Amino acid sequence: MRITALAGGVGGARFLRGLLHHARHTYPVTPDSDPLQLTVIGNTGDDITLFGLRVCPDIDTLLYTLGGGIHEGQGWGRADESHHLAAELAALGAEPQWFTLGDKDFGTHVYRSQLLGQGMPLSAVVDRLSSRWGLGDLGVRLLPMTDTPVETHVVVEQDGEQRAIHFQEWWVRHRAELPAERFVVAGLDRATPAPGVLEAIREADVVILPPSNPVVSIGIILGVPGVRDALRGTRAPVIGVSPLVGGRPVRGHADVCLRTIGVEETSAGVAGLYADFLDGWLVDEEDPMPGGRGLEVLRRPLLMSSVDAAAEMAGAALDLGLRLRADRATA
Ligand code: GDP
Ligand code: CA
Repeated sequence: MRITALAGGVGGARFLRGLLHHARHTYPVTPDSDPLQLTVIGNTGDDITLFGLRVCPDIDTLLYTLGGGIHEGQGWGRADESHHLAAELAALGAEPQWFTLGDKDFGTHVYRSQLLGQGMPLSAVVDRLSSRWGLGDLGVRLLPMTDTPVETHVVVEQDGEQRAIHFQEWWVRHRAELPAERFVVAGLDRATPAPGVLEAIREADVVILPPSNPVVSIGIILGVPGVRDALRGTRAPVIGVSPLVGGRPVRGHADVCLRTIGVEETSAGVAGLYADFLDGWLVDEEDPMPGGRGLEVLRRPLLMSSVDAAAEMAGAALDLGLRLRADRATA
């Protein structure tokens, strides 16, 4: 069974860890079974160069979460981390100091930057990092959305003047509190999908959109030329999961992002962003969103309070996709 997912960082990673957990119990590998093969297309719009090192926050959150090395409380960064390098950089007066990087995490960025500096494309680097975290053994292939360097910037208003700052500076340093005018994604219009990205969408049995940020995670991946067309054209049902519970994002500032692009901060508003290719949509139990023609809406508890809770959600999304797929086969 070939599943393809588009993912940002924490929301995407926790959901996909749940999907793997669900699959291990539901589709155990036997000689005649059809084990789950998961291709994850990760957002690289958050990528940033710090201290001369290339940092890919969403890709790394996916690697660490699926590979079992994540700091569970934070949702990002490594478990059992120390910060000697960052302390020394601060003592030297090196900037910026608003982005936390632990010592083990630095190892990832040093190695990635070394390989990129030797001319290796990001997708090949991610392959190396995936081996480190044993993703292949889990049936997971992680692809960056593109090998083209892409960076999300935010046009903000400060002291009566407009200027563009890196998305991370807006998100981490200013906690999305600086009034944002719009998002500008440098390099996106000329980006090409990384090898395997379009094929993974076209050849999937089910495509899943986890509850990642619809604007600055999923929205950026959808902006890579060719990705949206592939989603419109795939035979696979596309199933999405709302990032809103009780009418609000569970963490992060998805509501601010939606407001910035002029979209209503509701599950219906988010589904509208995917309307041209979405077939199934999971919303929280109390969510008032109505079903519509051509869109199957399923109500489920959508809080990923544990791996088991995430597995339940992911199982419901997968089952809906498989049912829609079977319906199509008999139609
Ligand atoms: P980021 O790149 O680390 O910000 O992570 P993502 O873009 O993958 O996911 C962020 C989104 O995940 C936010 O909009 C949250 O609302 C959503 N999210 C986080 N935890 C949960 C949860 O338990 N349930 C649901 N439904 N959404 C969640
Ligand atoms: Ca992110």
